[in-house]
Amino acid sequence: MQPRDLSAHEAYVPGRGAEEVARELGMDPEELTKLSSNENPHGPSPDAVAAIEDAAPEVHVYPKTSHADLTDALAERWDVTAEQVWVSAGADGALDYLSRAVLEPGDRVLTPDPGFSYYPMSARYHHGEVAEYRLSKADDFAQTPETVLEAYDGERIVYVTTPHNPAGTEMRREDVVELLESVDEDTLVVVDEAYGEYSERPSAVELLDDHDNLAVTRTFSKAFGLAGLRIGYAVVPEAWADAYARVNTPFAASEVACRAALAALDDEAYVETSVETARWARRYYHDELDAPTWPSGGNFVLAEVGDATAVAEAAKRRGIIVRDTSSFGLPECVRVSCGTREETKRAVEVLNDVLAEVEATNP
Ligand SMILES: *Cc1c(COP(=O)(O)O)cnc(C)c1O
Repeated sequence: MQPRDLSAHEAYVPGRGAEEVARELGMDPEELTKLSSNENPHGPSPDAVAAIEDAAPEVHVYPKTSHADLTDALAERWDVTAEQVWVSAGADGALDYLSRAVLEPGDRVLTPDPGFSYYPMSARYHHGEVAEYRLSKADDFAQTPETVLEAYDGERIVYVTTPHNPAGTEMRREDVVELLESVDEDTLVVVDEAYGEYSERPSAVELLDDHDNLAVTRTFSKAFGLAGLRIGYAVVPEAWADAYARVNTPFAASEVACRAALAALDDEAYVETSVETARWARRYYHDELDAPTWPSGGNFVLAEVGDATAVAEAAKRRGIIVRDTSSFGLPECVRVSCGTREETKRAVEVLNDVLAEVEATNP
C-alpha cells in the first residue's frame, strides 16, 4: 500500500547546520559560523540550561504542571486568560493547531509570497488549499492591507508575518486593524510574530480585546534561544475557550521544554542582550555591507547580492553560512542572521570580499 497522494506537499528546506557543512567541506565545525537559520547567537540563557538540568530527573512523567505553569505565565504576560494561550511544539505546532481548529477539507488559506514555507505545508496537511499574495521587491516588500486584500477572496485563514521572514518588513498596527476589519467575519487572520521581540512595534496580541478573528503566534526559538527544544504558542480569541483541548496533540510540549521556557521568560537580561545585539547587527549590516539591504524588524537582514547561490557558496568556504533565498523565489538575495558583534563583523568582511570577487568574475 501507499500513502495518500503527497505530490502537492513540499518538503521543508531548513538552513544547513555547521556540522553538516563542515562534513561536506572537510572543515572543522568550529571554523564555521551559521547565520542561516535566525537562531540566537548567544547560546541558551544559563537559567534555561539550569532548568533543563533540573528537569532531567523528572522526565519519566508526562508534562502536566509545567505546561500549566507556562500557560499561566504567558497569560499573565499578555494579560489574557489561560484558555487563550495555546502552548505547542514550536510556533510551527501552533500553526498546526490553528489549521486543525479552523480548516474544513478544501478550505483555502492565503499566504505571503515570498514567505514562511510552513503556512502552506500546514494547510495542506489539514486538507486545505493554498492561495498567495505577493510582496514585491519593487515595492520593498511593503506590507499593507492592500497587498493582502488585492489577492483576498474569502479565504478561511490569512497569514501575516511581521516582522516578515525573509524580508524583515513589518505591518503597522493600524494596518493590521484595517485588515481584521476588511476580511469576512469567518476569516481568521494569523499574525505570526516569531520575531516580535526584535521589533520596536507593539504586539498584535492587544488587538484581541476588540477582534475575535485574530490569532497571534510567538516562539521561544529566536529571542529566547530555545530553537532546539521546540516550544512556542498561539494567543487566540477568548471565545475559543474549549477548542485547545480538542485540537492539541497530547503532551506535544515536553517537560524539559516547558521548564526551560519558564526560566527563559524570567531571564529578562538575556532577552534584552539578545535584542540589543540583533538591533545593532541589523544596522551594522545595513551600513557596512557592500550590498543593499532592506530595513529589518527581525534578527536578520535580506541583502541583494546578484547571484545568491555563488555568493552563499563562496562565503561558506570562508566559514560564513548564510541563507540563499532561491527557495523563497529570490535567487538574487541572501538572508543573513544577526550574529554576536564579532560574528557580524566577520560576516561583513567575508561577504564584502566575496561580493567583490563574484562581481569581478561575472561583471
Ligand atoms: C522561526 C519561525 C517560526 C517559528 O519556528 P518554531 O521554531 O517552530 O517556533 C515561525 N514563523 C516564522 C516566520 C519563523 O521564521
